[in-house]
Formats: sequence, C-alpha cells, structure tokens
Amino acid sequence: MVLRSVGGIRTGENVEDLRAFLNDLPDGAPDISETVVLACRNHGDENPSWTYVEADAEAGVARRRCLQCAESISLLDSELRWTHPMMWSCGTCSQSIAEVAVGLSAPDGDHVEWLAVAARCVECGRIDGLTDMIVDGRPLGEVVSSL
Ligand SMILES: [Zn+2]
Ligand SMILES: [Zn+2]
Repeated sequence: MVLRSVGGIRTGENVEDLRAFLNDLPDGAPDISETVVLACRNHGDENPSWTYVEADAEAGVARRRCLQCAESISLLDSELRWTHPMMWSCGTCSQSIAEVAVGLSAPDGDHVEWLAVAARCVECGRIDGLTDMIVDGRPLGEVVSSL
C-alpha cells in the first residue's frame, strides 16, 4: 500500500493537478503509464466528474457514486471483495464531493499490473491517495473502458 506513506497534505486546483499527483507517487511505487479522470457516462457529452467515493486502502477496493444520477460503479472487481468502507470526506474541510482519478501502471505498455486511486476535494482542493490495487495483467484498453 504505497499511498499511505504519502506525508503531508497536497492540494490541487484541478484534475490536472490530480493527474500530476498520481504521476509523482513516492519512491517504491510502480511507474504510472496513464492517468484517467473518472467521469459518469450517463450524461451524454457532459461527463461529470463530481462524485462520492468509498475506498478501503487495506483491502484495495473502491466505488464511486455519481453526484448527479447516483449510479454506483465499483472499481474493477471491488464489488466481489467489498468491505463497506466509510464514504470519503475531506480531512481539511469535511465535505464529501470529490474528483477521482486512477493512475495505471502498465510496464509493457499494454497490460495493467497495478493501479492507484486518488481524490481531489472540489471545495478546498486537498488531494488524498485512496487506495491501490494489483491488477492481473489485464489489457490497458479493457481496464480504461471499465473505469
Ligand atoms: Zn451520473
Ligand atoms: Zn476539502
């Protein structure tokens, strides 16, 4: 669980800063090949990214719930191993709406071996690492389209 070793509080102004956080994980984390900002696909071209998120860093599971339509989407096989973690809320300003992004590590460029999940508070910009997960070499395109 690499993300728990992140010290101090980072903040970011937008999702690009969230991507930068994932691209700059502490030493020991696998190299990130691609970052994806998670967005709900139920709203045409709008792709809203504001979401509630639940994550368990211990178990490596995460699930988000769209702020607009309330659809829940589990990250990969999280549903099978669900541990009912508390909903994330910002450690600085306490509100619960976040933007969430995933950093994918695909050492050969095509197959994902590991991923990390991070959230940015839409109110104060605080960025938290949420969890990370070993991925069993699934094709990159397949993983991205399932996020
Ligand atoms: Zn939605
Ligand atoms: Zn906040």
